[in-house]
Amino acid sequence: MEERIASPAKTIQILQENDFRFSKKFGQNFLIDLHVLGKIIRAAEIGPDDICVEIGPGIGSLTQELAEHAAQVIAVEIDDRLIPILEENLADYPNVRLIHADFLKLDLSAELIRMGVERPIKVIANLPYYITTPIIMQLFESGIPLANMTVMVQEEVARRMQAGPGTKDYGALSLAVQYYAQAEIMAYVPQNCFMPRPNVRSAVIRLKAYKEKPVRARDEKQMFDLIKAAFGERRKQLANSIANYPGLSYDKNRVAAALEALGLSAQIRGEALTLEQFAALSDALDELKAEGE
Ligand code: SAM
Repeated sequence: MEERIASPAKTIQILQENDFRFSKKFGQNFLIDLHVLGKIIRAAEIGPDDICVEIGPGIGSLTQELAEHAAQVIAVEIDDRLIPILEENLADYPNVRLIHADFLKLDLSAELIRMGVERPIKVIANLPYYITTPIIMQLFESGIPLANMTVMVQEEVARRMQAGPGTKDYGALSLAVQYYAQAEIMAYVPQNCFMPRPNVRSAVIRLKAYKEKPVRARDEKQMFDLIKAAFGERRKQLANSIANYPGLSYDKNRVAAALEALGLSAQIRGEALTLEQFAALSDALDELKAEGE
């Protein structure tokens, strides 16, 4: 078998032949560890019927492994210098479709329809760390049918996505992600698995999309405003944080009454509430508002 793109020797050869300089702006840290690539493929449970979307293929290290295991790979890369390199490196894989675009500006849904993709996709990426959260949230909010998202992110971000109430890592990101998916850290990845070496440790996290959302607030936007208020001032009592939050118009007494109606202390901090409790609080505030009107 020919040497894999991800092997350190092959990666160096490709970079030198193309006189490629890494771009910090695009968060370029290429994977050079085949063992880690194997872990990603297994974590995502990639099988021969799967349609994968890869964000930021770089020189094609992960793309090549995906192409070997999946039915089809759609790879979206922003850096125009990488397009000819990818075309050459992946020439033997007719099941790879390359899209030259900024993922955040791409209408992926339209693209999938155009390609006749009908089943839920798997998203795989060693994400550019400067836009990790916008990419993940855009995918969830797009309503595109997703089986799972298996992505390399900064370890600290992975911990926040997976965290539960009462822990130091628990925050608005935990709740935003857990509203859409079950989050599980699948592997911790040291800096020396990348070229160039990043400053922080990384982790592979798998987000298995829920078919049904785990909670249902009548006003989803309000629930997320309550969450933002709670974690914007996480050391304060929740009733104060909500009363101070510009996007919401509830005074402290009303929030305290809603909390008590839910059997919670009026002095509670937001970091102690579960997603279910934020949804219930949002509904309880609506009910009190209706009663007061
Ligand atoms: N997948 C490759 C690997 O694992 O070796 C490269 C990963 S590197 C961390 C991130 C990749 O995302 C780079 O190729 C970078 O050019 C690309 N990228 C950065 N911003 C992007 C965006 N907005 N849309 C699409 N690709 C982007």
